[in-house]
Amino acid sequence: PTLFTVKRFAVLGLGRNGLRAVQALAACGAHVQAWDDGEAGRLGLTEALSHMPPGQAARVTCAPLDNLAGFDALVLSPGIPHHLPRVHPVAALAISAGVPILSDAELLYCAVRAAGSKARFAGITGTNGKSTTTTLLAHILEQAGLPVAAGGNLGPAALALPLLPDNGVYVLEMSSYMLERLDTLRFDAACLLNLTPDHLDRHAGMTGYAQAKQRIFWGQTAQDVAVIGIDDTDCTTIAAELAKAVTPCVTVSGANPAASYYGKGGAIWHNGTMLATLGPALPGAHNAQNAAAALAMARHLGVADTVAARAVASFAGLPHRQKLVETCNGIAFVDDSKATNADATSRALGCYDRLVWIAGGMAKEGGIESLAPYFGRIEHAFLIGRDAAELAATLARHNVPHTVVDTLEKAVPQAYSLALQTQTPVILLSPACASFDQYAGFEARGQHFQALAHAVRAQQTSTT
Ligand code: ADP
Repeated sequence: PTLFTVKRFAVLGLGRNGLRAVQALAACGAHVQAWDDGEAGRLGLTEALSHMPPGQAARVTCAPLDNLAGFDALVLSPGIPHHLPRVHPVAALAISAGVPILSDAELLYCAVRAAGSKARFAGITGTNGKSTTTTLLAHILEQAGLPVAAGGNLGPAALALPLLPDNGVYVLEMSSYMLERLDTLRFDAACLLNLTPDHLDRHAGMTGYAQAKQRIFWGQTAQDVAVIGIDDTDCTTIAAELAKAVTPCVTVSGANPAASYYGKGGAIWHNGTMLATLGPALPGAHNAQNAAAALAMARHLGVADTVAARAVASFAGLPHRQKLVETCNGIAFVDDSKATNADATSRALGCYDRLVWIAGGMAKEGGIESLAPYFGRIEHAFLIGRDAAELAATLARHNVPHTVVDTLEKAVPQAYSLALQTQTPVILLSPACASFDQYAGFEARGQHFQALAHAVRAQQTSTT
């Protein structure tokens, strides 16, 4: 018996998340009417239906959502606007018909509870570090022998996760979009890492963004834990408010010893004792913040400190986040393609005293001006992508040597020659920009960088 047996759901948007929602809802016995404004999405549904058990596929229809009367909920793909001034007409229909708009994380929670499982939920949000913290926490819980399913914004969509037994833990990376569309989901361990301006277009500025992120703590009780970073002013303000609530609040920081869990000298400390040392997969104070948060949540979820420490040491790190992908003649090629905003890039720049920097793509609001404190470390910058000229203008104002080269193909070999000539030890791809002008996503951009770095190495070996 599941919650969804007699329910009718509308699903709008048939990308990865939308298709998963359709499949999971139909598998739970719900009736689904699904639509995508684009033909590609609808074809994706036809394809997905052909792989589903006929009984389930029969509960799904593909039709425009022009009347939402009689539907129990609308599931919207991330990216479909549901905020003024841009509200998708179907979202507007739902709002006026009083049909709740729910995220797939909420549906997962309902399905898990309806199936009778008491599995716990950990939720992680923030501007940066979500994926790292989510993956690290899942790794710690796995090493502790607990059944774990991790996903959400990263990895498998929430509704693609398996049903876990009572001692299991779902570790969900939550975007602000998903957080706004919760109804009953309450996190046993919730974490807000940091808040810096990004994605402001979708929300009514920073206040709306901060409010959406704070939603991670909604409904928590005295048995739960609220973990919060105190390395930026907005989160520090929120931490002060959380301290007054009934839910125990645990502060974490990359370097501030005022926090309950904090980084110092490549290790995480708690109450004056060293909990865990951080390996090369977790460089910099920002990763200390992530590790501190994961350790605080793991302890609340019952993991012994020694087990957690061993797990942190064996964590392999995630691709495209300051990952060393090649070394050639002592020059390190570091792939930080995931850094799609200036704040994320500042973390990587802060880790090297001298470097050749490759950046560019589709610039975010504010550009790279905020990176000025790190410009002195840059031997030379190579700029690629649509907004290379905009970035060049900022660098020119600060007298940073730079070349606009448009593509990574040109940037990587040129960066290598220059690094050799100037004996600069690091070539860092940390674009501070989105990749969609030239790539399908940051993964493709990072893989391309890696391939080009290998090619440089291969050429060196063949000529020497
Ligand atoms: P998200 O999932 O939130 O995008 P990731 O863990 O994928 O975060 O990290 C993305 C980039 O953000 C990293 O390459 C790094 O440069 C930067 N970063 C990681 N953790 C933090 C943090 N705690 N604070 C600030 N920047 C961070």
